[in-house]
Amino acid sequence: MDLHFTPEQIAFRDEVRAWIAENLERPFSLEKRDPKHDADSLVEVRRAWQKKLHAAGYLGMGWPAEWGGRGASEADEALLQAELAAADAPQVPNFLGISLLGPALIHHGSEEQRRRFIPKMLACDEIWCQGFSEPGAGSDLASLRTRAERDGSDWRITGQKVWTTFGLWSDWIFVLARTDMDDRYGGISFFLVPIDQPGVEMRGLKQITGESEFGEVFFDGALAKGDHLVGQVGEGWRIAMTVLSYERGAASIMYPAQFDTQLDGLIRGVHEAGRAERDDVEEKLGRLVVENEVMRGNGLRTLADLAAGNAPGPESSIEKIFWSEYHQRLTDSALDLLGPQGQLVASSPSARDEVDWAYEYLWSRAGSIYSGSNEIQRNIIAKRVLRLPSGK
Ligand SMILES: Cc1cc2nc3c(=O)[nH]c(=O)nc-3n(C[C@H](O)[C@H](O)[C@H](O)COP(=O)(O)OP(=O)(O)OC[C@H]3O[C@@H](n4cnc5c(N)ncnc54)[C@H](O)[C@@H]3O)c2cc1C
Repeated sequence: MDLHFTPEQIAFRDEVRAWIAENLERPFSLEKRDPKHDADSLVEVRRAWQKKLHAAGYLGMGWPAEWGGRGASEADEALLQAELAAADAPQVPNFLGISLLGPALIHHGSEEQRRRFIPKMLACDEIWCQGFSEPGAGSDLASLRTRAERDGSDWRITGQKVWTTFGLWSDWIFVLARTDMDDRYGGISFFLVPIDQPGVEMRGLKQITGESEFGEVFFDGALAKGDHLVGQVGEGWRIAMTVLSYERGAASIMYPAQFDTQLDGLIRGVHEAGRAERDDVEEKLGRLVVENEVMRGNGLRTLADLAAGNAPGPESSIEKIFWSEYHQRLTDSALDLLGPQGQLVASSPSARDEVDWAYEYLWSRAGSIYSGSNEIQRNIIAKRVLRLPSGK
């Protein structure tokens, strides 16, 4: 297994790095602290950034060329994500559309659906959110109860979704709904639903960070046009499972790159706060640095595996657990080591390299829940990697 990048990959990384230096005005954490912004104007900052990335050909890179991609490898995609994370670039508003719906349409959609939706998704002229989870169906997604009933050649959707990231700013939502209430898996279908219509109500949910980045959405006979069913009736579960596997891969070296920047900020902050003499500083910082290297090594192993033509397997659950729990350990340690200083950064908008640790601490709690909770990831590792017998 070769864990080194090729000269072409390194040249690509350098190209991306130079492009970011030329095009990113300032890190997104600084943008967020600028008092001129509110939640809506920050979305516009993110939209403008997505448009720039799209114009430069850096979105959907692994897709076929006819859909705006360049058939790039997972390693190139991962290198791009790592450079963006290291520079603290804004996350594009359409990340759910691009990472989940794009592959769903490319693999399972009709030609007409691809033509209609992919260009506007990439250009951020339409923002998409994901309507999978429900109040009674999260980890056990197949328990979902939202239903779709035929209305002539169209469909009417009724039910509720929750945790809908970016719902308040989205134009469309891709929805898993029941077309058969009795068939657990084969009774689920995949619909594309416009949000601006009488049968849809989107409400923001206030998060512990103070933002309403996600929300809940209520469907009351909402219209989904007949030609906005993806795949066949009853294929929704299969489509959802394929596209969820695309959430993996690119994250492998992105998180270590993001944590590098935060670790630098923490080490500097500990010195500036006059707390470097504490007995446990070396041990805590040393452990965090080493663990980040372990994570990077594991990420490179995943990339080498992908380069050898192997699809991401259940082992990717190890990475999910590691990065999410590392983020929590990092922010726990930061607040502990920095003491009161850890709370102050948010009020100093000119501090270019400082990390808003209080915000990071609160946000890091979500990592062990989304993209499949860590308990579920441990179940996957137990069953499919370690092949342990299942409990009765
Ligand atoms: C920030 C954030 C953004 C999100 N964005 C979206 C989005 O845009 N669209 C969307 O559809 N969803 C989204 N989600 C939802 C996410 O996928 C679910 O929260 C997740 O699947 C867990 O479901 P749940 O919250 O219903 O918890 P539950 O499934 O009810 O689980 C509750 C607890 O029980 C544990 N548990 C459940 N089953 C088992 C088991 N078999 N063995 C051991 N432990 C178990 C879980 O780990 C958890 O600790 C988001 C979540 C977060 C936190």
